Amino acid sequence: MANALLRSGTLALALIAGPALAHDPDVITQYSTLDALKAGLYDGDMTYGEMAEYGDFGVGTFNALDGEMVGFDGRFWRITEDGVVSEVTPDTETPFAVMTFFDHDITFDLPGGSDFAALSEVLNSHLTSANTPVAIMITGSFDTLTVRAPRHQDQPYLPLAEALADQAVWDLTNQSGTMAGYWFPAWLGNINAPVWHLHYLSDDHSVGGHVVDLMTDSGSVSLDPSPDLTILMPRNAAFDEADLGTP
Ligand SMILES: [Zn+2]
Repeated sequence: MANALLRSGTLALALIAGPALAHDPDVITQYSTLDALKAGLYDGDMTYGEMAEYGDFGVGTFNALDGEMVGFDGRFWRITEDGVVSEVTPDTETPFAVMTFFDHDITFDLPGGSDFAALSEVLNSHLTSANTPVAIMITGSFDTLTVRAPRHQDQPYLPLAEALADQAVWDLTNQSGTMAGYWFPAWLGNINAPVWHLHYLSDDHSVGGHVVDLMTDSGSVSLDPSPDLTILMPRNAAFDEADLGTP
């Protein structure tokens, strides 16, 4: 009984503190898992309107793998295989999305003259822990930038590696824009990729996509280490029946 009372007391406190908790910048909320996406689970039962409750910043894709999502400053954008950039409507569904309320905890200059590998080394050196997920925002200019978007998939879905084999790729020059993304530790590799995963949108909203490579010019990097991770699992038959492996 004491436990029940304690619990109800805790609940009341949580309700009072609700709005503050809802915008805790140290929480990453992810819908589905990398392994589920790799297995070809491209239709989610989650909308970006719902995901926006968990963040003003994030990356993701769309049902039928129909484009890349990049979100920051409370606005979410879609880049499709034809290169068209559009703002995401709240009723648009996703099979995989990662969101956070971004906090500029650690900020440093974007190193110039760096390709993706060199930039990754610099970013690694700013990690406060090799075991905690991090959200990352980069604003700046880029001499070159290679971005991609997947092609809309039809049922029956191929595994991700095959689906991405003929994705749309664009080589861009003299770019100025924003990148949103995440880095996950290796121990969470079934949940999300242990790499610097960045999605780009140009300042004029004309081009964007998943960042494949780049050559940096100048800008600013912000990191938001996020020790709290919430996974929202799909509530559909495809997820329930998928073989996501055993340890
Ligand atoms: Zn991506």
